[in-house]
Amino acid sequence: MIIDTHCHLDDPAFADLRETLRTALTHDVWGVIAVGCDAETNAHALAAAGAAPKSVWACLGFHPDWTQLTDEDLDLVAAQLAVHHSRIVGLGEVGLPWYSLEGRADAATLMARGRARLDRLLRLASRWDLPVALHAPHGAAVGALEALKAHGIERAVFHWHKAPPEVTRTIVEAGYYVSVTPEVVYRERDREMVARVPLDSLLVESDAPWKYGGEFEGLPSGPWFASRVAEEIAKLKQMPADDVMHHLSTNACRLFDLVWA
Ligand SMILES: [Zn+2]
Repeated sequence: MIIDTHCHLDDPAFADLRETLRTALTHDVWGVIAVGCDAETNAHALAAAGAAPKSVWACLGFHPDWTQLTDEDLDLVAAQLAVHHSRIVGLGEVGLPWYSLEGRADAATLMARGRARLDRLLRLASRWDLPVALHAPHGAAVGALEALKAHGIERAVFHWHKAPPEVTRTIVEAGYYVSVTPEVVYRERDREMVARVPLDSLLVESDAPWKYGGEFEGLPSGPWFASRVAEEIAKLKQMPADDVMHHLSTNACRLFDLVWA
């Protein structure tokens, strides 16, 4: 049994929450961390956690690569956090922009704005002792790591982690988690990362409704993919799948301070 530590349950594909969770359970996925990206998706995450309090937990976030989001949108999220911080298990997804900077002449300005916004959000995480789910791929990872340390944040996960091996090592040595998606089944870069990172520092996620390739091509994406990710980690670690699932679930419970169901 496993927890999907990063899923966008606000997607219309998951409009039938009971059916989504039932399907997940048939794949040994008993819990879902519902992340948000702005005030509207955050409200969805809160509603899902309210509707299924034993299997869905909400994080409130502000997506760093959604360049259309304004400072007023950030004010709305800060206000949501002020009201709901005791009902949520984390801040996420938040982080630094990366994909949206590609080909932009004002990339440096956007990155500076992203860092200022992340600083504001991490101050709130620190105030309410919330763990942080980071979107900080590739060249954004180092800056996000610096930000975590600057704010004294002790609990965080680099979601769908992608970074050079030495950066990953620094993240893991600092005590943070890195999270793995279904890409680990068919992408060498992810497989090499899993081989290097101790099981104690890994989490699994679907990032659904993201669509994957390989054996997932054409399949409906959902939290149910998380158990397949765990199974692949077990293969790479050459450990029994049940042990690895238990270990990964324990990691998720530790990060998000969940009570084991
Ligand atoms: Zn996501």
